Amino acid sequence: MTTTAFFIPPVNLMGAGCLRDAAKAIQSYGFRKALIVTDLPLVRLGLVGNVRDLLASHGVDTLVFHGVQPNPTTKNVADGLKQLRDNDCDFVISLGGGSPHDCAKGIALVAANGGTIKDYEGLDQSAKPQLPLVAINTTAGTASEMTRFCIITDEARHVKMAIVDKHTTPILSVNDPELMLLKPASLTAATGMDALTHAVEAYVSTIATPITDACALKAVALISQWLRKAVADGRNVEAREQMAYAQFLAGMAFNNASLGYVHAMAHQLGGFYDLPHGVCNAVLLPHVQAYNKQVAAGRLADIARAMGEKPMAWATRPPRICAYWRFANCPPTSAFPTGCHSLAFRPRTFPPWPPMRSRTRAD
Ligand SMILES: [Zn+2]
Repeated sequence: MTTTAFFIPPVNLMGAGCLRDAAKAIQSYGFRKALIVTDLPLVRLGLVGNVRDLLASHGVDTLVFHGVQPNPTTKNVADGLKQLRDNDCDFVISLGGGSPHDCAKGIALVAANGGTIKDYEGLDQSAKPQLPLVAINTTAGTASEMTRFCIITDEARHVKMAIVDKHTTPILSVNDPELMLLKPASLTAATGMDALTHAVEAYVSTIATPITDACALKAVALISQWLRKAVADGRNVEAREQMAYAQFLAGMAFNNASLGYVHAMAHQLGGFYDLPHGVCNAVLLPHVQAYNKQVAAGRLADIARAMGEKPMAWATRPPRICAYWRFANCPPTSAFPTGCHSLAFRPRTFPPWPPMRSRTRAD
C-alpha cells in the first residue's frame, strides 16, 4: 500500500456572478495592497479596470502588472517581482488564463523565498509558502488557478521549466463564467483541449487514485458534452459554466495524479516554437494514447465510454488505431490544427531524445 496526498486550494468559488463573492472574500483577508498580474489584451478589453473598480469599492488597493506573455518567461517573473517590491505589495491577484496564473505564482514564490524562479525548477524546491495568491480565472482549460503547477519558459535554454510545488497553491480560486464570455473561439477550443488532455493523462497515470479517477471521468464527460457548444457560441453562459466545472475537475485530477508524455512533449514544443499549449496537446494526444493503448486499453475504453462512444464501436476498431481515432476527432472546430505540419514544426531542430520509460499504468 502507498499513501497519497490531495492538493487543492482551501476555498474555490464557482458559478455566474461569483466574482462579487470573491471581492468580499478578498476584503476579509485584510491585506494591504495587491499586485494584479495580467496581460495587455485583458487591460484593453476593460476587464482589468472592472475588477480594480470592484475591489476598490471593497476597500482593496491594487496595482497592475500587465507584462505577462502567452508563454510566461523568467523575465516576466523578474519584471513583476520588481514592481511588487518597489510598491510594497503584500499579496498577489492573478487575472486571466494559465499564463497570468503561472507568472503570478512565480512572482509570489520568489517574493517569499528569494533568489530567482530558476532556483525552484522541479518538485517542492521552496522552503516557505509563497505570498498569498488569489487566482481569478478567465479561461476554461489550464486549471492553473487551482493547481500547484507553475510553467515558466527559460528563454536562455528555450525550455519550459516545470515548477511543481505545494507552496504555489492559491489561497482562493475564482471561476466566474461571466468573465469567459469574450474568449474567442480559437482560445476556447485550445484551452478546452488542454483540459481534456489533463483528464486523459491523469486517468492513465501510474499514480491515479479513486479520487482522481472520479474527477477525470466526470471532466471528460462534461467536455464531450459542452466544449463544442462553448466554441460555437461564446456567449452561452451555461456552456461556459459547465466547461469551467470540467476544467476544474480535470485540474483536481492532474494536480494529484500528474500528467504524461503529451504534456512532456507539448511543453518542449511550445517552449521551442512559442506555440499555444492547448494546440500542442491536441496535436500530440492521439499519438501518445495510441502508444499507451498497448498497456492501458481498458482505461482508455473507460474514457471512450465517458465521451459517449458506444462500447461496441470501440471494441470493433483495430486496437492501436482505436485510441488514435477517438482523440483525433475531438477538436471542436474544423479550423483546429491537426498535425505538426500545421505548426511549422521542424523535427530536425530537436536533438535526439533518450529512450523512454513507461509512465502509463497498466490495466
Ligand atoms: Zn496543460
